[in-house]
Amino acid sequence: MGARWRAEWREAPAHPAGARLRVVRRWLGRGGWSCEPLKKLLRRDGRQVPTDGRGGTVPGAAQRGIPAADGKGASRCMAAYRLRGVRGSAASTDPNGTAGIIEAAIQGSKLRDGLKLDEIKASLVRRFQSTLVIAEHNNETLTPITLNTITAAKRLGGEVSCLVAGTSCDKVAEEVSKVQGVAKVLVAQHDMYKGFLAEELTPLIVETHKKCNYTHICAGASAFGKNLMPRVAGKLDVAPVSDIIEIKSPDTFVRTIYAGNILCTVQCEEAIKIFTVRGTSFEAAPTSGGSASIEKLTPPPPVGLSEWIEQQLTKSDRPELTSAKVVVSGGRGLKSGENFKLLYDLADQLHAAVGASRAAVDAGFVPNDLQVGQTGKIVAPELYIAVGISGAIQHLAGMKDSKTIVAINKDPEAPIFQVADYGLVADLFQAVPEMTEILKKK
Ligand SMILES: Cc1cc2nc3c(=O)[nH]c(=O)nc-3n(C[C@H](O)[C@H](O)[C@H](O)COP(=O)(O)OP(=O)(O)OC[C@H]3O[C@@H](n4cnc5c(N)ncnc54)[C@H](O)[C@@H]3O)c2cc1C
Repeated sequence: MGARWRAEWREAPAHPAGARLRVVRRWLGRGGWSCEPLKKLLRRDGRQVPTDGRGGTVPGAAQRGIPAADGKGASRCMAAYRLRGVRGSAASTDPNGTAGIIEAAIQGSKLRDGLKLDEIKASLVRRFQSTLVIAEHNNETLTPITLNTITAAKRLGGEVSCLVAGTSCDKVAEEVSKVQGVAKVLVAQHDMYKGFLAEELTPLIVETHKKCNYTHICAGASAFGKNLMPRVAGKLDVAPVSDIIEIKSPDTFVRTIYAGNILCTVQCEEAIKIFTVRGTSFEAAPTSGGSASIEKLTPPPPVGLSEWIEQQLTKSDRPELTSAKVVVSGGRGLKSGENFKLLYDLADQLHAAVGASRAAVDAGFVPNDLQVGQTGKIVAPELYIAVGISGAIQHLAGMKDSKTIVAINKDPEAPIFQVADYGLVADLFQAVPEMTEILKKK
């Protein structure tokens, strides 16, 4: 009989069945290993514990949400047993990725010899990832931040699916299916998704997760994502991680705190990682070259907690603030709303979006959708021109990742000059019209 030994796998990879398992396994001759923690979790969630028809539990099947005792589940079970038993003899394959598990099992045999433990663990963790990205759109086109979120999702490794929910959003689903890195597009269409209310979208996301057992669910850190994801996390009873700027590993993220002054590395031990992504920190995924499958979902019944009445959107021919390549922002130094015309004239010459500091918004110079900063929009354009803005940390939190920063301020001590690549100490009422005139002549 083979040697009796206790497996050394102290920390199981994030488990697709929805739990971080601390696997307690005892390999006792021909005996099995304990999957009590998994069973407990499944029972806690009111789910069936799949069996292999011979009285054994089928962890491989459970991972994939496969009903009990369907022959496939059992073959996956064998692979999973062998993986966990760290034996190199697995021979079964199936169309849904068990090959990967088997390969891992074979690699796993090296584990006993203490070889490349971390590499093997990391590769296993990556194999088991599956991420759901919640697409933001207006039923016509995809909002750019979704493309940045897809890039973040790809960094996790594993399969990326995208949920497109709306009233009539086939066009958007088509658009997403072409995005590189997306494997599957899930589409749910119903009148209740008018206005993209978090109360209605949450049950759809929770239901979709129950079917597919995602390890990660994410959306962009826009008003849409910030409104939706905490609710989803609440319903799934996990703590979300907000506004991440870097992914170190599938469970470790970097986010900013104290208005961007401190970078905080967060290790998330939740079974399902729910997070929002800062769009400016990840490149946009290419919008062509992908060929994802499109699957229609049946929406759950409406919740009816809230009702969408109407939205009044500012119409502008200018580029959208968060995705513009050039942004010209004005602060309290402009002194009035009328004086913002100086900035609009300059922005026209540069094909730029116009932004503002909170002081300018609070003073009523411009509407609040122009606000850049900690409590406004986060921008990272190629060129950011700050005019009559002092450079308070709350403003810097929204623009300091811009590639080139130009500041115009009459006070040489203004803190904005500390982050500026080019600074002009001048009266803005003289400098800005001069710049506009020079640009007009070009
Ligand atoms: C919780 C919290 C959240 C916040 N969130 C944000 C946020 O999201 N975004 C944000 O911007 N702020 C935010 N603030 C406010 C922030 O602290 C500052 O009060 C604000 O950014 C100041 O705006 P400002 O630079 O336009 O005004 P000021 O600080 O008053 O600066 C005006 C500048 O204009 C210059 N100036 C005046 N006249 C001229 C002239 N003729 N020519 C050239 N320069 C001139 C002055 O030298 C001065 O530097 C927040 C504050 C708090 C507490």
